[in-house]
Amino acid sequence: MSLEKTLSIIKPDAVKRDLTGKIIAMFEEKGLRVVAQKKIWLSKEQAGSFYDVHRDRPFFGELCEFMSSGPIVVQVLEGNSAIELNREIMGATNPDQAEPGTIRKEFALSMTENSAHGSDSSETAREEISFFFSGLEILQF
Ligand code: ATP
Ligand code: MG
Repeated sequence: MSLEKTLSIIKPDAVKRDLTGKIIAMFEEKGLRVVAQKKIWLSKEQAGSFYDVHRDRPFFGELCEFMSSGPIVVQVLEGNSAIELNREIMGATNPDQAEPGTIRKEFALSMTENSAHGSDSSETAREEISFFFSGLEILQF
């Protein structure tokens, strides 16, 4: 096990329903600590730039509309095997396939409005963290 950092987003559907605190508690209970955090509202263009890898997918337009539909909470989570652990805590992309007790099983409204995002590899974690945060904004100790 190695100490890692990963990017987590609490998506607009969850922020809107005041689920931010409950979702952060689910990360903390499993050993992930918040080392940077902010609430922001992306433009459609900024959402598209974040999800650029999905630009050619049929759901891209809907995804960008949704991700810019209200405030999100972006955060850096740190812990042992943080990248994989974060994705386990979130559950499958499709909430119908997510395990009980996961964020998406408990809270997601649909495949698009699925409450949380997490980086899927160490390379994307690095890129996604620097998309939102400067080094000075990330707690080091
Ligand atoms: P994320 O990148 O948000 O953590 P993920 O890695 O589980 O999610 P991706 O395949 O990267 O899933 O898709 C990015 C996001 O695009 C999904 O979280 C979801 O909001 C949306 N999405 C993915 N597939 C579909 C689909 N078939 N229909 C509608 N929306 C989709
Ligand atoms: Mg993804």
